[in-house]
Amino acid sequence: MNTKLSLYVDPDDIDSPRAILDLIKKQLNLAADVDPEYVIHRKSIDARKKRPRFLLDIEVFSPETLQKKTLFQVNFKSLSPDHRVVIVGAGPAGYFAALELLEQGIRPILLERGKDVTSRRKDIQQIHSKGIVNPHSNYCFGEGGAGAYSDGKLYTRSHKRGDIGKVLSLMVAHGAPEDILIDAHPHIGSNRLPRVVKSIRETILSHGGEIHFESWVTDLIIEGGRVTGVWAEGKGKIPADAVILATGHSARDIFELLDRKNILIEPKPFALGVRVEHPQSLIDRIQYHHSPRHPKLPAASYRLVEQIDGRGVFSFCMCPGGFIVPAATAPGEMVINGMSLAGRDAPFSNSGVVVEVRLEDIDAASEKGPLAAMDFQKKLEQLAFQAGGNGLLAPAQRMTDFAAGKLSSVLPKSSYKPGIVSAPVHELLPEGICRRLQAAFQAFDRKMKGYFTGEALVLAIESRTSSPVRIPRDENTLMHPQVEQLYPCSEGAGYAGGIVSAALDGQRVARRISEIL
Ligand SMILES: Cc1cc2nc3c(=O)[nH]c(=O)nc-3n(C[C@H](O)[C@H](O)[C@H](O)COP(=O)(O)OP(=O)(O)OC[C@H]3O[C@@H](n4cnc5c(N)ncnc54)[C@H](O)[C@@H]3O)c2cc1C
Repeated sequence: MNTKLSLYVDPDDIDSPRAILDLIKKQLNLAADVDPEYVIHRKSIDARKKRPRFLLDIEVFSPETLQKKTLFQVNFKSLSPDHRVVIVGAGPAGYFAALELLEQGIRPILLERGKDVTSRRKDIQQIHSKGIVNPHSNYCFGEGGAGAYSDGKLYTRSHKRGDIGKVLSLMVAHGAPEDILIDAHPHIGSNRLPRVVKSIRETILSHGGEIHFESWVTDLIIEGGRVTGVWAEGKGKIPADAVILATGHSARDIFELLDRKNILIEPKPFALGVRVEHPQSLIDRIQYHHSPRHPKLPAASYRLVEQIDGRGVFSFCMCPGGFIVPAATAPGEMVINGMSLAGRDAPFSNSGVVVEVRLEDIDAASEKGPLAAMDFQKKLEQLAFQAGGNGLLAPAQRMTDFAAGKLSSVLPKSSYKPGIVSAPVHELLPEGICRRLQAAFQAFDRKMKGYFTGEALVLAIESRTSSPVRIPRDENTLMHPQVEQLYPCSEGAGYAGGIVSAALDGQRVARRISEIL
């Protein structure tokens, strides 16, 4: 029988298999000359004590059942000539849908408006150096989707939605570090993610799938209530037996297209707020009780949530040792987000702090209709752009000044490369959102002493937390209720949020298609 145990390991010993073996032997009372085989299933940090420790969930193998965890093996079937499934969008949902279709013997044809992940990097550099946002190639659009140049956090709460182990194993099989299989908070980093994305592309192509970059889908071809293909810029008409719409939360032209064609879509509540940046040393001191932190400990993170006046206010997409980045998808908008490299060793920590936006808030502030939440989001992004001086300078304020409603005379340093400008961020947000954020920052300080400080910056605007539109689908078939063989998928349709849950939804839709076709 294998034995499962939990083991506390000092940071000094975490990289020493010998030290871990000795701890296992001590805990299991094993003889000195026995070195059992073991596998670590989960690695987390317990920072409750003065000296933080790693907590490992370990399985020790008995000699009879000795079998190490093997990576997920994919068996791709030979492709059926009968079916072609078009996938619009090569983000995590699109790529994992394609892999799943190949497993089922169905040819995926991927159409992506942006460039391949390597060429895309140049457009991202151009945003930083010249402030130019290419509407087809930016932090959200291009191969790998919005997650390709991100923090690469791979945790999700969607445990019931599919096989997370399969998603992570597929990533490891495509070059992600094996640690992601055991870390409690797995993370790849934006310097490693593009390599994984490229490797998935090679798998799709080598097994008979097609991928077309710079192929922006501008229309759906619908005949007799059924989608029969799409129009793509530069490609013309592309016939399909089924179409997966995995275009992400920022494809406003797709939402507008559906609305124009009278295909049912609905406004969707989302969350909106600011990005907060602290010195990483401050977060380490609060969370680990020491700064500088032990060299084996990762940059400390946090997750905070409060109810203020009946609304959830929560930290979102926390990037320890990371950078704030400009994530707009069109000129004239200010949108920020966060990312980090694998080492998470930058001197700043940032996270989105956002407030639930309900449809009743939007109706009061914008025109009604299926695009009401999207319009509300867009107007606030345009306002923040103007407050930044009509460039990519981000409006910023010290956290204490934001709470007091006054302009900051001098701003501390920020990781945001295009630069920051002192602006009344408190005036750029709707009153109900601003008021709740002001109260939440002080409430967070009661949980993390030192969080509420003038050393922290508040930057505007964190608005692309999830889709402002839902594209409905039948719970059983996963098809749009009005258009046969049209499959709204993942974050853009309102069914996922984050890299892993997007990948899970892509797989789920692809499996359903293979059962239906
Ligand atoms: C800077 C940043 C950091 C992030 N960090 C993390 C993180 O650390 N962890 C995490 O889990 N999540 C993170 N996210 C969120 C995560 O990236 C998304 O939740 C996820 O990528 C959604 O996957 P998706 O496949 O549904 O859509 P997307 O990734 O948005 O992909 C949609 C794709 O469709 C393409 N497309 C759009 N319209 C068209 C069209 N008309 N024709 C053809 N193609 C089109 C787009 O170019 C895009 O490539 C981050 C996002 C950003 C922007």
